[in-house]
Amino acid sequence: MINFEAFFKLSYGLYVVAAGDKSSGNAYIANTAFQVTAEPPQIAICCNKDNYTSGFIQKSKQFSISILEENASSDTIGKFGFKSGKDTNKFEGSNVIYGETGCPIVLDDSIAYLECELVSTHDVGTHTIFIGKIKNAELLNADKEPITYANYRRIRKGLAPKNAPTYVDKSKITQPSTKTDFAKYKCNVCGYVYDESESGVKFGDLPADWHCPVCGADKEEFSLVQ
Ligand code: FE
Repeated sequence: MINFEAFFKLSYGLYVVAAGDKSSGNAYIANTAFQVTAEPPQIAICCNKDNYTSGFIQKSKQFSISILEENASSDTIGKFGFKSGKDTNKFEGSNVIYGETGCPIVLDDSIAYLECELVSTHDVGTHTIFIGKIKNAELLNADKEPITYANYRRIRKGLAPKNAPTYVDKSKITQPSTKTDFAKYKCNVCGYVYDESESGVKFGDLPADWHCPVCGADKEEFSLVQ
């Protein structure tokens, strides 16, 4: 038998993988990136075949990996992780540079990046594994820790922290009288569910600028779960 809960004990990071050139390109968030050899320095990423960035990697034969910091913003995660480059230009409004290889590199919330030249491609069914030889690597911030996928899943499922502008002081909000008053609202962008019974705060009482803690979508993007 396969207990899928066991899979959650695997640890991963969270990375922005970018490919293309100055005329066109895209980036997405990956949690699968790992070094495969030290000499030469090579790294592998696993990319869904439907992923828009996949085509740019195959065409340009290179890709970059930006390592996200522990407190990466929902805006960055939402933009690169939950929106498709087929519908939106993800580089617009982002801090993107072009590296030594000419590959786009996303610097938003990044603490280091690697530029890679594609050396092999492996078809694994739904996904493609790309192996790249590292041509350039830069450390942007030595003091900040990288985000882990486990932290992202655990921490981002809550309300905004106390020091955030969107923090809600529960004591100042009228509490619903019975448990049956509680409802759930689902983010149409990423699927995150806001459960009033967990937070004790009615969705309607959240401030207008409250946003999805996972992907950064506005309140208007939420629908009542029937
Ligand atoms: Fe969301």
